[in-house]
Amino acid sequence: MRYTTICSVMPISSLKHTTKRLRTGGTVFILNTGAVITPEAEAMLQALHSRSTGGIKAHLKVLAEKGSDKFMSSYYVGYGHKSIGDCGTITIFVEGVSMLAAKAIQDWKLYSGQEASTRYIDFSKQVFVDPVGTRASNAILEKWRRFYLKSQEPLKEHLRKRFPKEESEKETIYEKAIAARAFDIMRGFLPSGASTNLAWHTNLRQVADELMLLRHHPLTEVQDIAETLTKALDVAFPSSFGHEKFETTEAYNKFWMNNAYYYSEKATDTVKILDDSIDKKLLSSYKGILKKRPFKTELPKYLAECGTLQFGFLLDFGSFRDIQRHRAVTQRMPLVTTKYGFAKWYLESLPVNVRTEAKKLLKMQEASIKKLKTTKEIAQYYIAMGFQLPNRVTGDLPALVYLVELRATRFVHPTLQKKASQMAAILEKRFGKYGLKLHLDSDPGRFDSGRGKHDIIKK
Ligand SMILES: Cc1cc2nc3c(=O)[nH]c(=O)nc-3n(C[C@H](O)[C@H](O)[C@H](O)COP(=O)(O)OP(=O)(O)OC[C@H]3O[C@@H](n4cnc5c(N)ncnc54)[C@H](O)[C@@H]3O)c2cc1C
Repeated sequence: MRYTTICSVMPISSLKHTTKRLRTGGTVFILNTGAVITPEAEAMLQALHSRSTGGIKAHLKVLAEKGSDKFMSSYYVGYGHKSIGDCGTITIFVEGVSMLAAKAIQDWKLYSGQEASTRYIDFSKQVFVDPVGTRASNAILEKWRRFYLKSQEPLKEHLRKRFPKEESEKETIYEKAIAARAFDIMRGFLPSGASTNLAWHTNLRQVADELMLLRHHPLTEVQDIAETLTKALDVAFPSSFGHEKFETTEAYNKFWMNNAYYYSEKATDTVKILDDSIDKKLLSSYKGILKKRPFKTELPKYLAECGTLQFGFLLDFGSFRDIQRHRAVTQRMPLVTTKYGFAKWYLESLPVNVRTEAKKLLKMQEASIKKLKTTKEIAQYYIAMGFQLPNRVTGDLPALVYLVELRATRFVHPTLQKKASQMAAILEKRFGKYGLKLHLDSDPGRFDSGRGKHDIIKK
């Protein structure tokens, strides 16, 4: 069997991955898949293929004889044929970094990857990144941890009463759904500095392009990730990195990353349309296409030519983390602050005695964060993820329809589901007459124990 043959050549345990430690204690890890044809070699094959009609077999022969190192350093890095770098993909694992750093990496239209879910994992044992590093700053983080930990059991008890198990439901699945709902609620009290793990599947070009911004990110933690990852990439793929840095480009990226990165415009709690540039005349010509679209099917991407719609609303950071992953719409990174208050849903979901304690804790923590007298960027690490933030979503119809249908369901975190349902209602009202039909969950607010089956487990 092919698999056995490959394993006997290169056992997984003997693969040499590239790992480097971050200053915060976390790590970056570049996966070596042990592939005989490496990502660099794959990129080279595709580039050669574009310059001769000899066919892939001839290029494989060249690869076998000469390797890909020289080719990549001269044609890709040297001559700057950026699209060659699109042709080789790699996987990076970033571990033990703050939620803020994870979001910074994912703030990229072509991000592919996965992040640890606060909806299925108990975050009480995670390190909380503490850039201030004083007794007072540590005390803030530990107070969030204590509350997150001690409230879980009373909350689960409360949820069992609120959503009693139906006879037809399997005990284990029901209990998983209760635990998942408890995590949904308690994540509001986790600080944004709580550490997480993420995988980043990218290509040789995209990672270099994104690092050009990450190295100028307002957070030192992110700058450190960029610097460390650059070093690791130089080790793992020595022929595909080390691009020349242009002073003017670096200065420009630094300028906007430090002056205009975060979004902090005012917003309302309810979803509002901020701008509608959809060309209704053009849209009318697509009535048949809009009308015919079946369930779980995307609209043709070319409908994007009709223009975009822009929504504005408040959303807690916990749920921003989820909506941010919709790459087909444009969103900006909000600055995490306490200015817009704590999302009511988290408080209303707690049993009365825990709620009273939560309210006291929020007040106390807000005052303690102010007393840290740190920058607004660093203060983000200490602010809990349940605080509301302004969000602006700009998208074309295919992207927005996809987003609302995926997110306006009972299986999505309730604070995001509510905003997605509001966006869906606006879309239906505004574009229904042009044929737009949405396929929506008929009861999105329902507690469904089916959620207990959604964890990803090793079989
Ligand atoms: C219930 C639930 C649980 C989840 N749990 C996790 C989890 O534990 N961990 C995790 O990491 N993620 C999780 N996710 C996030 C999920 O994996 C997606 O990243 C997120 O929902 C965005 O959706 P998407 O990637 O399918 O498509 P989108 O990025 O919204 O894209 C929509 C469509 O447009 C295409 N597209 C994407 N970008 C562009 C572009 N720039 N231009 C044109 N088209 C584009 C896509 O291919 C797709 O067809 C979860 C999502 C849900 C709904």
